[in-house]
Order: sequence, then C-alpha cells, then structure tokens
Amino acid sequence: MNSIKTLPGTRDILPDEIRYWQNIEEIARSILKKAAYREIRTPIFEQTSLFERGIGEATDVVGKEMYTFKDKGDRSSTLRPEGTAGVVRAFIQNSLYAQGDVQRLWYTGPMFRYERTQEGRQRQFNQIGVEVLGSANPRADVEVIAIACDILQTLGLKNLRLDINSVGNKEDRQNYRQALIDYFTPYKAELDADSQDRLDRNPLRILDSKNERTQEIVKDAPSILDYLGDESRSHFERVQQMLTNLGISYQLNPRLVRGLDYYTYTAFEIISDDLGAQATVCGGGRYDGLVKELGGPDTAAVGWAMGMERLIILLEKLQPLPAPKLDFYLVSRGEKAEQQSVLLAQKLRGVGFSVEIDLSGSAFGKQFKRADRSGAVAISLPIGSEAGGRSAVIGFDGRALRLATGNRVVSASGAVPGMDLPADFFIGCRSSRPGLQKTLGQSRLHEVMFWPDRALLGSDAAADREMLAALDRYLRWVW
Ligand code: ATP
Ligand code: MG
Repeated sequence: MNSIKTLPGTRDILPDEIRYWQNIEEIARSILKKAAYREIRTPIFEQTSLFERGIGEATDVVGKEMYTFKDKGDRSSTLRPEGTAGVVRAFIQNSLYAQGDVQRLWYTGPMFRYERTQEGRQRQFNQIGVEVLGSANPRADVEVIAIACDILQTLGLKNLRLDINSVGNKEDRQNYRQALIDYFTPYKAELDADSQDRLDRNPLRILDSKNERTQEIVKDAPSILDYLGDESRSHFERVQQMLTNLGISYQLNPRLVRGLDYYTYTAFEIISDDLGAQATVCGGGRYDGLVKELGGPDTAAVGWAMGMERLIILLEKLQPLPAPKLDFYLVSRGEKAEQQSVLLAQKLRGVGFSVEIDLSGSAFGKQFKRADRSGAVAISLPIGSEAGGRSAVIGFDGRALRLATGNRVVSASGAVPGMDLPADFFIGCRSSRPGLQKTLGQSRLHEVMFWPDRALLGSDAAADREMLAALDRYLRWVW
C-alpha cells in the first residue's frame, strides 16, 4: 500500500528544527511583552466574507489563493490567509475598543494560501504579527517598526533592509490612482494580463507586478510621494525623523504600495539579501480604514506580519542552535535497578534536573553508547544496588576535582578503582569506562556515573564548570 504523504506546500516541522521556532517565539514573546503587547488567538477558519471585505476582492490572496469550502451547514468558510482580518473582527465582535486606550495585540499561527510553492513560499505557512488599534499617531508606526527590527536583530539576522513608503490618505491615493491610470493606459497592450486587469480596478497593484516588461514601464510611472497632501507628508516626515532618532536605517521605496482603500500613510517591508526570490520577511503598514470597513467604529491602526518559514531559512544559515542540554541519562539493567531508575528519575526531575531513562533493557554497552550520544552524565544503577553509605570515588583521568560536597569525596585520582572501593559512588569519565563498566555494574556501588569525555579534556573551562556544578548539585541532593 502506498504510504500517505503531506500535501504540496505543507511540511512537517521535526524536533531538530523546532528549537529554531521556539527561539523565534521566545524572543518575540519577550520583546513584545516588554512593549506591553498582549497575545490574541483567533480561529483558523472564518466566514469567507471576512476576508473578501478585509483583504479585498481585487487582491491575489482573495482572488486566487484562498482555501474556501462549504461546511456541512452550507456556510462558506475560509482557512485564514492572514491574521489581520481575524484580529480586527475579534476587536469589533468583543468590543475591545470599549476598553479604551490603545489595543496592542500580537498573534502567531498558521496561514493558508493556495500559491505556487517554492523555497520560502508554502500553502500552509506561519506568521507572527502585531496590530496596534486605536492610534493615528506616527509614534505607533515607529513603535511597530522598531519592534520588528528588534526581533530580527535579537535573532542575529544580518543583511536586512527596511524599505518605507507612504501611500497617503484616501484623497491622495485617489489623485495618484488617476495619475497611474493616465500613465499606464497608453501602455495597456504591453502590460502583462494581470496588470491589464488591474488598470481599472486597482492600478496601484501594477507597481507590484513581477513581469519584466511591466516593471520597465513601471520605472517611469509617477511616484506616490509627489501626490501626498500636507497631512500625509507631515505624518511621513515624523515617522522618518523618529526612525533616524532611533538609529534605524531605511530607504524610501515609492513603489512599495498596498492597493486597497483602507491602507493609509506608512507602508514598509523588511527584506533580506540572503533569501533569493522570496526575500520579504516582514510586511506591514497603517490601515486606518479597515476597522470601519469591517463594521466597527472608526479606528486608526497599524501592524505587520513576519513569515516564520523565511526567518527559519535565514536562521539555519547562521550558527546552529545548541541542542537543549540533558543533565542525566539513566542506565539500568535488571528489574530492581530498572525500577530504581524510574524513582531516581522522578526525584531528579523534582529538584530541577532534566533526566532521560534508557528504556531498552539492552546490554550496558549499548545503553552507554546512547548515553554518550545524549551528551549527558550517565548514571548507571547496577544490578542489585542498594542505597548505602555516603562517599564517592572520582576517577577523572588523573584530574583532581574539588567538589563543594567536601570530605565525602574519597579520592580524586585517575586510578581505576576495583570492586572493593570504600565508596558508594563511582564517578568516571567515559574514556575510563571500557572494561570497567561490567565490574562496576556488578559491584556494590550504589550508582555509577560517567561524565562525557568532552567535559574532561579541560579544553572548555566553562563547560567543565557547568558540569561540575551539576555534579555538585546532584551530590548535595543525593547525600
Ligand atoms: P509575497 O510578496 O512574498 O507574496 P505578501 O505580500 O503576499 O508576500 P504578506 O501578506 O504581507 O505577504 O505577508 C507577510 C509575510 O508573510 C511575507 O513578507 C512573508 O514573509 C510571509 N508570507 C506570505 N506568504 C507566504 C507563503 N506563501 N509562504 C511563506 N511565507 C509567506
Ligand atoms: Mg503573496
């Protein structure tokens, strides 16, 4: 039978990759919390009309990319293609505006668009986004831009560029729209089919066209910046002034437009030089008309959304994130020792250590191999072990190690201890293990711990210290 695979444009995020995701989420969460943003979670599917009105029927997203279906109650439903429409619907439906003041919200989750899939462009993808509802002040624009920059910078991303523009207010855009129609009409036959289609409906979107010939024509098109009225101009200048004050560099990109009526004033994008074709990691702007368009009170708003997959592609090119550290790996053989390992694991976790139990019941050698791979300190519970006295032998390849547990440590030497050790613990490094294991395993020692070799080489003082501190904590607790 054929095995079932993921659909095109969707993928599994496996455990090795997940720490990149968690890293982004943790950094974003902490930065957003410091800026007084609160998380909001809205449904993944909504009434189709929300997106038709909220994104606009003339857009590619609504026109071509939506996952729309009838549910069993014959309601037209759509998997959300973006986050803003749902957040605004929630803002209106739950009267969040009645709480007064400004609502600073953020969200993260999967979005769905039926697109041509390629690297950095999927059908199910994830965004993290913010929306500030209730302020027309250019400081809000700058606040959200600064937060986006802060997140990307904290992630360690380089070669990013911030493009900004102003799309003016409704009146400015009306004038600009006419100027574009006047400019493009003589070229109509040369434009790509989509752009021809947009000429009457939504000429601003022609500026977005990826078609080469259209792009050439676009080069000499009028600039929106020449159509900004006093109010728009002043708003835009204040945004730029504050960005400069914050040391955030930007470039003006008058071709950066959002075609819909409710987009106003600032528009921006953050673009990476390291991403190839799908280069935009963050897109946002002001949308003062949207809340009203969706039936709410007249409310100014600004926000952005970042594509998580594109961030992950960039992050994976940087240094790999360290795997999460496991403190102890429990090795045991025989019913009694195996039962003890469950108890010991529970106790160790209870005092804050991370512990993995080897569940295989296989030979010690195999279990220790896995312990090696885990990078943790291996604790072996020998067959028939009993809790006994309170002392330890440390065989650290000749390295003398001082533990704060004091004189309970019997010796610190490279000598290979025999079966008649006057101790309950043997603590050795992995390289001293071969041959020893079995002997020690059957000895009357209470527990046998093996330190990963890399920590014993003395090459990394910080790792040594960290390991010793963990051992110290362990011995303090166990004694
Ligand atoms: P693009 O021009 O790349 O199609 P867009 O204008 O459709 O982007 P927005 O709707 O502004 O994108 O979404 C914000 C961000 O979400 C984008 O900058 C991008 O990082 C990410 N994004 C959008 N669509 C996808 C997708 N299909 N797959 C992965 N990420 C995406
Ligand atoms: Mg798109």
